[in-house]
Amino acid sequence: MKLPIRAAVLASPNYPFVPIDAPVKLDQNEAAEDFPASLKALVLERLGREKWHRYTDLNAETLCAAIARYEGWSPSGVVVTTGSNVLISLLIQLAALDKSVVTVTPNFSLYGLDAKLLGAALTEVPLRSDLTVDMDGVIAATKAKGNAAAHAGGVVYLPQPHAPTGSILAASELQRVAEISGEWLVVIDEAYHQFAGTSSATLARSCPNVLILRTFSKAWGLAGLRLGYALASDEVARHLRKLVPPFAISVMQQIAAEVALSNPGYMRERVERTIRERERIALALRQHPTWEVYASAANFLLIRTPDAARASEQLLQAGILVRRQDAYSSLAGCIRVTVGTPEENDLFLRAAGL
Ligand SMILES: *Cc1c(COP(=O)(O)O)cnc(C)c1O
Repeated sequence: MKLPIRAAVLASPNYPFVPIDAPVKLDQNEAAEDFPASLKALVLERLGREKWHRYTDLNAETLCAAIARYEGWSPSGVVVTTGSNVLISLLIQLAALDKSVVTVTPNFSLYGLDAKLLGAALTEVPLRSDLTVDMDGVIAATKAKGNAAAHAGGVVYLPQPHAPTGSILAASELQRVAEISGEWLVVIDEAYHQFAGTSSATLARSCPNVLILRTFSKAWGLAGLRLGYALASDEVARHLRKLVPPFAISVMQQIAAEVALSNPGYMRERVERTIRERERIALALRQHPTWEVYASAANFLLIRTPDAARASEQLLQAGILVRRQDAYSSLAGCIRVTVGTPEENDLFLRAAGL
């Protein structure tokens, strides 16, 4: 029997992730340390006093207001979902169904996967040979002559900093893409922005076609809670909210995020430590006889080795799990290593022979 499933879904691969157990987990760019125990206790105490048999507010208004206060954004321009990866799919539904998704490659794989699943035309502009974003190429892709889908507009996805390279785009480059003509929603994924000290908020405030994605999964140390949000113009947010399932955010998620936002000190401290550790590892890696490390503004480092399979196996033998990136031809030999605790980073450097 032919399965009653759309051809695009049948043809799509699963999300490329294989869980592997290892004592030192440096493969998913998570925070090195858990959410602080004192704040966890506060969340659990507040959760105990909540009514669990009642639905939460329809669009998590209280949490949106807390995010808006923290970000200096309009509360009606904040849209929260269970992880920013949900928004990646919703934004294609909002602006690119039967239209185009333009992004770069290599890149966070979900932009392309979701575009294919939802049947949007996908253009992936290769990074330049030094692995920086070819903004001329991105802008050209939004104008591609003879490409009816591109002509109709859609969504441009750009991560800032870029994953998996950790590079950043100059504000002037983002300004250029924000000003492209046609019906394009320009989405800047700022999952790692705290580690770069960059923000596209000013740009997004002046260009209503620019939308920012942020997450509680990385710097905030709440990947297991599943929370992300969009900072958009009030008008775009009003329509995006229609696509978020009603009552999507649980009372647990709302309380945890509110507690985190009221106590941002722990996050800022950890970001500073992560940046110091990132630079320490990068400096040490420059002494490696065969590995080459790329400059990163995020909480991970991309390293070119002679053989990614051998390098990751050598590290795994020492109990250290990293992520291979060599499925991309331009990233032959590359592995990506999350910055861990100072102790974990020492173990990593020792396993790398340094
Ligand atoms: C980790 C990451 C996210 C976060 O996804 P969540 O669903 O919020 O956990 C988004 N974009 C990029 C590029 C990431 O690396």
